[in-house]
Amino acid sequence: MFAEVIVDISHSEADKIFEYSFEDCRIVAGSRVLVPFGGKTIEGIVIRTKDYCDFDEKKVKPIISLLEEIPALTKETLALADFIVKTCYVSRALAFRQFLPVEMRKGRVREQFVKFAELSEDVNIDDVLSSLRKSAVRQRDLILFLEENGKTPLTELNDKFGGAVKALSDKDALKITSEKRLRSPYKDLGGSVRKFALTEKQLFAVNSVENSDKLTTLLFGVTGSGKTEVYLDLIDKTLKKGKTAIMLVPEISLTPQMLKQLRARFGENAAILHSGLSAGERYDEWWRLRTGEAHIAIGARSAVFAPVENVGLIIIDEEHDGSYVSESAPRYNTADIAEFRSRFNNAKLVLGSATPSIESFLKAKNGEYNFIELPDRINQKPLPDIEIADMRKEVRRGNNTPFSSILKDELAKCLEKGNQAILFLNQRGYSKTVVCTECGHVQKCASCDVSLTYHKEDDSLLCHYCGAKYKMISACTECGSPFIKYGGFGTEKIVADLKTLFPSARILRMDRDTTQTKEGHFKILSEFSARKADILVGTQMIAKGHDFPFVTLVGILDADMSLHFSDFRSAERTFQLITQVAGRSGRAGEAGKVVLQTYQPENHVLRQAVNYDYNGFFEREISIRKATAFPPFTKIVRVLVQSENDELALNAVKDLYNELGDIKRERETCFKFFGCMKAPLKKLQGKYRYQILMRIDNGNDDLIDRIFAASNAKNRGKLNVYMEINPNNLT
Ligand code: ADP
Ligand code: ZN
Ligand code: ZN
Repeated sequence: MFAEVIVDISHSEADKIFEYSFEDCRIVAGSRVLVPFGGKTIEGIVIRTKDYCDFDEKKVKPIISLLEEIPALTKETLALADFIVKTCYVSRALAFRQFLPVEMRKGRVREQFVKFAELSEDVNIDDVLSSLRKSAVRQRDLILFLEENGKTPLTELNDKFGGAVKALSDKDALKITSEKRLRSPYKDLGGSVRKFALTEKQLFAVNSVENSDKLTTLLFGVTGSGKTEVYLDLIDKTLKKGKTAIMLVPEISLTPQMLKQLRARFGENAAILHSGLSAGERYDEWWRLRTGEAHIAIGARSAVFAPVENVGLIIIDEEHDGSYVSESAPRYNTADIAEFRSRFNNAKLVLGSATPSIESFLKAKNGEYNFIELPDRINQKPLPDIEIADMRKEVRRGNNTPFSSILKDELAKCLEKGNQAILFLNQRGYSKTVVCTECGHVQKCASCDVSLTYHKEDDSLLCHYCGAKYKMISACTECGSPFIKYGGFGTEKIVADLKTLFPSARILRMDRDTTQTKEGHFKILSEFSARKADILVGTQMIAKGHDFPFVTLVGILDADMSLHFSDFRSAERTFQLITQVAGRSGRAGEAGKVVLQTYQPENHVLRQAVNYDYNGFFEREISIRKATAFPPFTKIVRVLVQSENDELALNAVKDLYNELGDIKRERETCFKFFGCMKAPLKKLQGKYRYQILMRIDNGNDDLIDRIFAASNAKNRGKLNVYMEINPNNLT
């Protein structure tokens, strides 16, 4: 037999189908195998088997071995890989990598086995006992122990009985077996989970998803409207039909909370997949899904590739969230992958959000999606009142702290009542920048065109783009002046200031720096949830989805931050972020309050967010997008050219611009250049960056294919060139 194999090498020269011969009849499409390739042994994936060969049969080499008996890839994932290759412009090897745990690919992790011992049935224990010498007390004890306890892990017996284990084993009195041990993450999620009878509205939502003739439903439900219960009920119904479900949340930090709910309902039927797990855990959870032992996959973005078959339901919670778009190759959009799987399996796809993305809401309005609204919080609880604090006035009054007087007052009241507060600031570290007061020099990263952030905890300057760490300076590196000033606040500084303002308050901080350890997110969130702290200060990881019933105050310290980004989604992002963070307040018991600090209180996006006017926001935003011909009415294409050699990059980007100009001239009306220029981040990790920004009208994907081909042809040697479509991040 012959097999068509894709080898696990991602560069384009190896992106071909190679043929090998084999005899092992366990090898099928989807199997992982080892093959000889260019003098080396390489992993590969069989995409097709056949009984003839397209090449000279004598030159075809045999497959070395089969890696796993169960094919790692299914028919569906093989088809999905093709889809990724076509839509994300990546090699097949790179597409396949999305489906497999990294460590499994490199053979660095295997199943874990534990050895057990019990008394052998083949020997008469009384004979063994009587044959023992009087002094062999421990062997005698071991026999009695095993008679009483039966099968016991070998390590435990070795600890208890030492050499006696080997002695008895030598007499063939023990039967040693080996059993697979599952490494399962989040063993103790603590607390209890309440199950509610669905409200009429929730029930309506469930039925609407089930009965709609459309595969995709947009569930537009305000924060605290009980979307989670709707998801759980839908999953329940899916399992009862013998199908599997995929549940996606936007942040790893949200997975334990959802896993807890899923385990409470469905026990071990839920498996979790995310990059924060240990290699062994991820491997075991992956196989539980692949073998059909678990039927529900839960995780962040990458769990959309979960190896489940017969999918009946895919849920994307907080579907608008930017984290659902991958920023490294393959640059996929999770919803596109989910839509592919939904079509392939005829499965329902539910997109849930309190602030749907402009694209999804438009599709719902146009009738492409089934549309359901949950306009009220559970028990008619009001949405929290959002008060704007005008920071310009604060500065005029001489208040240069990160806290407005309104926020300080509200914090004091909240603490007094024994309630909890959340303060949100999307900037970690102590100060955003470090500036010399004499010459104005800002400390920058040596390899990036980025100012460094001061981290007081380890007294260092960090580059938030490449991770480089520098010693804190005692004098300006330009002029030697010792007068150094901090510019802007980070979460560390907020905590420090809070400690002076409210000395007895217990404060937790959650940002990338405090969540590096295993299950780090989970520890902080559980502590806050258990009311072991009064204030939680954090970056966007605390903005989404969390359900803390005792939080009655939310402070948004700098609502303007995301308005400054120069991309077409900045208004949308700002509206979403404010609604999400505000939504953490007043979810149970007492009514909630939100203080929103801004330097531009008259900004229309902030105004609409304060009034929870999503519809008004959508109408305004969609008319702007239409008038300016931005997505979803067109596609924005960016080609980024990077190199350590500035001149090389500059020449390449100019050449490419000329080549693309030829394509444009053929189709002037649907192709617009915004220019060819330095990227907003001119240098990153030692590489100089240039970009070409374009706009292509919908329905001209052939142009995008050609832009890709022209760019990819330059992606060689010391040049790194790649294309992005509707990028989320224009740095
Ligand atoms: P969302 O995901 O829409 O923000 P959640 O699903 O977290 O909202 O629900 C908000 C709160 O309402 C939670 O504390 C949840 O336990 C509670 N809840 C949900 N459904 C019901 C119900 N049918 N009856 C009572 N309480 C409910
Ligand atoms: Zn200086
Ligand atoms: Zn850097």
